[in-house]
Amino acid sequence: MASFFIKTFGCQFNELYSAAVADALLRGGNQRSDDVEHASLVIVNTCAVRRKSEEKAFSFLGEAAKVIDAGHIVFMGCVASLDHERARRIAGHGLRIVEGTKSLDEVLAVIGTLAPIVLGDDPPRSLFPTADIEIIRGCESYCTYCIVPTSRGREVSIDAADVLSGATKAIDHGFSELLFLGQNINRYQSKVGGLVDLMTLVDGMKGSFWFWFLSPHPANFRPDEVRRLMELQHIEHRLHLPLQSGSNRLLERMNRRYTVSQYEQLAEPVRTADGWALTTDIIVGFPGETDDDFARTVEAVRQFRFDAVFLAKYSDRPGTPASRMQDKVPAGVIDQRHALLLGVVQELSEESNQRMAGRTVEVLVLSWREPDRGFGRSIDGKNVWFASPGRQPSAGEFVHVVVDHGSREGVYGTAVW
Ligand code: SF4
Repeated sequence: MASFFIKTFGCQFNELYSAAVADALLRGGNQRSDDVEHASLVIVNTCAVRRKSEEKAFSFLGEAAKVIDAGHIVFMGCVASLDHERARRIAGHGLRIVEGTKSLDEVLAVIGTLAPIVLGDDPPRSLFPTADIEIIRGCESYCTYCIVPTSRGREVSIDAADVLSGATKAIDHGFSELLFLGQNINRYQSKVGGLVDLMTLVDGMKGSFWFWFLSPHPANFRPDEVRRLMELQHIEHRLHLPLQSGSNRLLERMNRRYTVSQYEQLAEPVRTADGWALTTDIIVGFPGETDDDFARTVEAVRQFRFDAVFLAKYSDRPGTPASRMQDKVPAGVIDQRHALLLGVVQELSEESNQRMAGRTVEVLVLSWREPDRGFGRSIDGKNVWFASPGRQPSAGEFVHVVVDHGSREGVYGTAVW
């Protein structure tokens, strides 16, 4: 038996794989350790999307290698694929490396040589009440700043029958939310058709559940597909649609393959629907970003009234076309622009949350955080803190909450029964 510690960096895919590995180890009779010092098996699940997360992974690996033999450290994820030589220099040649983001089976095969594991096909329990379900692996979009096409490889869509059976199991096991994942999820293709066709089949399943998906690429979406998705019964009322920049010139340099006005056509059904939220990703300081480009991004963020924006400062990823561009934006300018845009984003989030006052929203309960306060997420993706006089709902339940007021972080109210 092992005492295992898992350190996860990066995206929802890594969270999913780490949770599945933890489940298999727990079923095998192993125990989870709260720290590296007391672990006999350490798993480092890495992310290469930003330089910072990559450096953090190497730094953590160095610390782990001081207290545990490299042969009992499993190094997996994107960084393991891109720079395994550096990983071995840091930890030693016995380091167990699972290159790239291969299927979970291959990851578990390596871990199974170090500790007993028992495979199961239930969704990872630690993510409850959300069941993450990967439907397409890899990416072939080649955005010029992104390392994912190299680290995660070619696109492979998961067979629709497997996706639907995973979704059915999740619902049967009491999961309340299904989160479908793909780096470029609307490139999904199988015998049943594309993403919208698959989501329509999911929507027809019996049970009390919500679902949504991450992340669609605007270049692979049509407004009529957005409208079809919005008509589904179980879908959450939010669309995350990465814009990245409000400048067409920069979008072209990023190889995003859409313009701001094409994005606007996709956003329009969401922006004009009552109770739907639109969220996005923006990169600040992409090479060649001028004051004018940045001003266009600020204007676009205001125009689309995003409910939430995930801002990233541009950082070079070795091997990408953008890293070879000569006209880098100085770090100080990136910091200034980031701070300015963050102010706008926070102002918009606060306005969006304040507009909820007086409304009754459907909420998925995630936890009971304080003696008298629950925490959950509304159907349009907002954080909700709520009182629930006389009854304490459990994680995974759906409740209705009357919103009293909103802040930058979310909304506050009282559950009604
Ligand atoms: S769509 Fe672009 S940003 Fe997203 S994973 Fe693929 S290459 Fe990276």
